[in-house]
Amino acid sequence: MDRQKKFLLNEDQIPTHWYNIQAEMPNKPLPMLNPGTKEPLTVDDLAHIFPRECCVQELDQENAWIKIPEPIREKYKYYRATPLVRAYALEEALGTPAHIYFKNESTNPLGSHKINSALAQCYYAKEEGTTNVTTETGAGQWGAALAYAAKIFGLEAAVYQVKISMQQKPYRSSIMRTFGAAVTASPSMSTRAGKDLITKDPTHPGSLGTAISEAVELAVTTPNCKYTLGSVLNHVSLHQTVIGLEAEKQMEMAGEYPDMVVACFGGGSNFSGIAFPFMRHNLNDGKKTEFIAAEPESCPKLTRGKFEYDFGDEAGLTPLIPMFTLGHNFKPANIHAGGLRYHGAGTIVSQLIKDGLMRGVDIPQLESFDAGMLFARTEGIIPAPESCHAIAAVIREAKKCKETGEEKVILFNLSGHGLIDMTAYDQYINGDLQNYQLSDAAIEANTASLEHLT
Ligand SMILES: *Cc1c(COP(=O)(O)O)cnc(C)c1O
Repeated sequence: MDRQKKFLLNEDQIPTHWYNIQAEMPNKPLPMLNPGTKEPLTVDDLAHIFPRECCVQELDQENAWIKIPEPIREKYKYYRATPLVRAYALEEALGTPAHIYFKNESTNPLGSHKINSALAQCYYAKEEGTTNVTTETGAGQWGAALAYAAKIFGLEAAVYQVKISMQQKPYRSSIMRTFGAAVTASPSMSTRAGKDLITKDPTHPGSLGTAISEAVELAVTTPNCKYTLGSVLNHVSLHQTVIGLEAEKQMEMAGEYPDMVVACFGGGSNFSGIAFPFMRHNLNDGKKTEFIAAEPESCPKLTRGKFEYDFGDEAGLTPLIPMFTLGHNFKPANIHAGGLRYHGAGTIVSQLIKDGLMRGVDIPQLESFDAGMLFARTEGIIPAPESCHAIAAVIREAKKCKETGEEKVILFNLSGHGLIDMTAYDQYINGDLQNYQLSDAAIEANTASLEHLT
């Protein structure tokens, strides 16, 4: 049978604009607030921390299409467009009538979608005369992408990596250092925030929250230094829409349109990237696609978090962000999907959930690896532990289709490969991995102190 597996685009079909869903949302996201005055933040407020153009994009609720500067598009050409693939072997293994497609964002040398925004943020930082960038990284994919992007745009990068992740995934720091970044385990003694955290808890394993505190502190206390973030914020989601815009053209080549779009969810950037370009057709053209964000059972902010104003970091140095959150002091269980261990969701996604335009689903760690193993053994790609959550959610839906006989078209984003996560796969194969549930009482305790501003 002659059937097409991969759908490929040429370089000149890489999108020329990013899609800004804020402009078309029925209810706009609530504004981020200054924690002191409780006033909505302006571009000027944010520009102390982030490159100015990113701040303009962050607050842009007018323009649905934002031009991708040519130097960024030139860098995209090194690894884009990425393939859209029909997962025939997975479908056959599941015996499902569903058509499963995945957008493969693991094909670039950094191994994940994060590079799509790292290039944009470093370009804008360079354009405004910044010499240094800082950031946090959990599993290390963002840090690696940022280190590379900083190097090619001629910036110095300082990366705070979550301590426990550095121990679990040592090669990620090697990658960042190869690209020239200075890497520090967080919490560290090199910042006020880090010292305070270590004083309170000398064995603190670190979290994205602690690493963000340290990176932000370094940025605001160093001249010509800007902070960059790998997820959560609106401008990061914006940059990731190249994923869905390409996928839209590729689904057209396949002659299908997705009934369901699925991605794993840490802070929301790869989900937004694949989902928003399709969601615009729900908003504007009456399409009925379902959007599913797969989060870990041990970090269930989408399904069990509170919608409140909360800080983006552990020390409380960032603006107050209106989001579904487990509380900024939440210490997630030590799961291998490091990129999904964040306490909150971005403001756009939080509003979309409130408006019923998408939903979250919780995946236990063992189920995520069951799914990753099946995907590896059928499609030949070892997925990142984060991406395994998306695959698990897809498998659940494909099994439902098997029961009902529905031929649904399911599209998911393969956010990254797992080739630097083999310790996790070893532990799974050896039977040493476990699930982690979170009690309602723990969530209540952790969110009780949040001020009700929404
Ligand atoms: C960082 C990361 C994620 C989670 O971040 P989002 O912003 O939610 O996309 C998912 N998958 C991979 C491979 C990652 O590196």
